[in-house]
Amino acid sequence: MSKIAHYLQEHLIGEVMTSTDARNYFSSDASIFSIQPAVIIYPRNENDIRKTVRFSWQLAERNRIFPITSRGSGTDTTGAAIGSGLILVFPAHLNHILELDNKSGSVRVEAGINFAKLQQTLISHGFFIPAYPASIEYSTLGGAVANNVSGAKSYKYGSISNYIKTLRVILANGEAIEVGRLNKRELSKKLGLATFEGEIYRSIDTLIEENREVINKGRINITHNNAGYNLFDVKSDDGGFDLIPLLLGSQGTLGIISEVELSPRPYNPESALIMAYIDDLGALQATIDYVRGFKYPLASVEVINRALLEEVHKLNPNQFKDLPNPFPEYILFLEIDELNDHHQKKNLKHISKYFGKSGITFQIETEPDLQQKIIKIREVSSMYLGHNDGLKKAMPIIDDAIVPPNRVQELLSGLDQIYKAVNLNSMAFWGHVGDGNLHLQPHLNLNQIGDRQKAIKLLEEYFKLVISLGGSISGEHGDGRLKTPYLESQYGTELYALMQKTKQIFDPYNIFNPGVKFGTSLDDIKKLIASDFNYGELYTFLPRS
Ligand SMILES: Cc1cc2nc3c(=O)[nH]c(=O)nc-3n(C[C@H](O)[C@H](O)[C@H](O)COP(=O)(O)OP(=O)(O)OC[C@H]3O[C@@H](n4cnc5c(N)ncnc54)[C@H](O)[C@@H]3O)c2cc1C
Repeated sequence: MSKIAHYLQEHLIGEVMTSTDARNYFSSDASIFSIQPAVIIYPRNENDIRKTVRFSWQLAERNRIFPITSRGSGTDTTGAAIGSGLILVFPAHLNHILELDNKSGSVRVEAGINFAKLQQTLISHGFFIPAYPASIEYSTLGGAVANNVSGAKSYKYGSISNYIKTLRVILANGEAIEVGRLNKRELSKKLGLATFEGEIYRSIDTLIEENREVINKGRINITHNNAGYNLFDVKSDDGGFDLIPLLLGSQGTLGIISEVELSPRPYNPESALIMAYIDDLGALQATIDYVRGFKYPLASVEVINRALLEEVHKLNPNQFKDLPNPFPEYILFLEIDELNDHHQKKNLKHISKYFGKSGITFQIETEPDLQQKIIKIREVSSMYLGHNDGLKKAMPIIDDAIVPPNRVQELLSGLDQIYKAVNLNSMAFWGHVGDGNLHLQPHLNLNQIGDRQKAIKLLEEYFKLVISLGGSISGEHGDGRLKTPYLESQYGTELYALMQKTKQIFDPYNIFNPGVKFGTSLDDIKKLIASDFNYGELYTFLPRS
């Protein structure tokens, strides 16, 4: 064990490990990258986190940077849950529900709690968090907050940011603070604090006041944006101030989240599912535009395409025997979960009339058993993700960008050209098309130089296309190391510099997750690509996306 590990072992209650096995295990997340950490820490309480951070801060004051990466379950697909220094592993001990109000559903939890376990508990009390990732079964709430996740129902319910009341955060100097929405009076109290917390409030307030125009101009007009830092929603016109938007999606680069207080919503298990077969891109776009105009928003608007069905069909020719042959170009899945029966029926009537008039074949299911058949088709991406095509595997490299929903058609046409330019012939995709958010994981073998070059070319062209369409390179999963080289092109030099300033204000010594959002070039990511990408321990569950 190194001197540093000895010191930490002596001073922390939680366990400290440096075994090769542990370091190898934590050298990967669900991204294509690999970085071996020096020390693994399993904090037992908040004090352990504070002591670790304080230790790293004191080393930094003496010009020795020993970075800290917080880690939930390591399902991050962007390389944000790995790092070269200390890894703070949350799920081992910090996994409890601390308070639950049966009447309102309001709940306070430790960051390492498994998201599905929390959701199950809430559902048993008649509540749920409507914004949850497809990886809910095997990921933590802290990771969800740090990535500002969204998922299948985010078309209606937005990202997890809508359900967070307060956060408890450990700052870079080890100070623990409570973060939440402040009114003018509360803000002025914070501005007067002589602590590091006070310094952060003062500096962020000044940064926003002095750069309002650049910040307002830089806002991207899409439904979910996790690129960079959300400087756009910190200060509201009524003088309200909130650091939560900055921390959400910050991927452990601004502070460490120890506790989360959430306001769940009433759970309605009854919904109607609609599956429609659409044969051309124009009709797909027209349907998205149509349903987006509903007064009572649908719960979800999802899509899968023919190439995805064909890939899975190769594995099992009987799997889709109930679908038309040849498969439709697109299958659209709509869900309606209105609590008000009248609204529910109104939506169903609109949809039936629209599909009837457009000559689109569709099916409505309200019976849970029959709905399962539709859900199985909707979630077919898990089969695609979990199977190899010879030595090629589905790679999370151009997964997760988002464009304005009325530009999905342009995105798909552009992508088609990009795939052809790199000689990839099967453009399988799925995603939250109502939000303009699509997932693609092309089959590549990153041990082959040719495929590595293809991966880089895809990255470059894909992000260029998304930005040109007024979209964001990070819709739901975050930037990580993968998208860091493109963040400046996303926002332009001036706004990106303000984001860098934000990082310096929170983390002046660059202790928290360096290389994520800043400081990783395209050349760097080429060196970080692992030769043995796989979902490893995630196969205990079914990797869904
Ligand atoms: C198959 C598959 C499907 C997925 N589907 C979705 C989806 O539908 N929607 C979606 O948004 N994402 C999705 N993801 C991405 C990822 O699973 C989620 O973002 C998940 O919520 C991350 O949780 P985690 O516990 O695994 O976090 P980790 O991967 O461990 O960490 C994620 C980030 O959060 C930071 N972090 C973790 N804990 C803390 C903490 N306590 N304090 C500060 N920072 C912290 C880490 O440093 C890292 O930057 C998917 C991933 C896979 C592999």
